[in-house]
Amino acid sequence: MNELTSVQNFSESLASGDLRAALRAIGREFHSRRWSLGTSSNYSVVTGRDPLELLITASGKDKSALTDDDFVAVDSAGQLLPSHDVNGRKSSAETLLHCLIAESCPDVGAILHTHSLWGTTLSREALKPQQTEGVIRIEGYEMLKGLEGITTHDTAVDIPVFRNSQDMVELSAQIKEALITPDESQPETSPPHGFLLSGHGLYTWGQTLAEARRHIEIFEFLFEVTAHQKLFERFAEVQ
Ligand SMILES: [Zn+2]
Repeated sequence: MNELTSVQNFSESLASGDLRAALRAIGREFHSRRWSLGTSSNYSVVTGRDPLELLITASGKDKSALTDDDFVAVDSAGQLLPSHDVNGRKSSAETLLHCLIAESCPDVGAILHTHSLWGTTLSREALKPQQTEGVIRIEGYEMLKGLEGITTHDTAVDIPVFRNSQDMVELSAQIKEALITPDESQPETSPPHGFLLSGHGLYTWGQTLAEARRHIEIFEFLFEVTAHQKLFERFAEVQ
């Protein structure tokens, strides 16, 4: 099945309200585009708000071949819902980051996390050895308009970058403090559309699953052109 067929399946599944089928189509597409190789990545949809509930890919599943049984339902703490027949499935350690984003951003309806080549490469550029946080600035590209709310190429977007960790509790606290807590000194600052974990991958989200999918596609383009731009600049410097 090629990428276009997967995108078509995604649209049809969304239109019919079949969330699992839509997430499975995303897995096939993202795997074929090398953004979700092996068992990397995880995808979630907010299925309840009061209390918060997410449907999320189960831990350790090949994203190119997800089945309807490869998902779990979790609460706001990332715990499996007791009413759900888990049948041996577990939630990923990174479920906590999905919960953090969903809880902190009331408008978010879906969260997607990928491990792409260019996002991973670029994320390592942003942090010096002692730093735990950094930023990648992307500016001047027409494709920025693919990010919700941006209407002109003549703008700059700062993508926060956090040092990767296997301690999701500590990482969640760091991201919540730096990302979600409003910066009162800069009330005009828009909340970011996503963030990177250094040497790891991208988290982005949207009000709908379709918007979150578009943000992944737009970010991947922007990461690739930004990485190439940096390479060209360095090449010019040594000439
Ligand atoms: Zn990951």
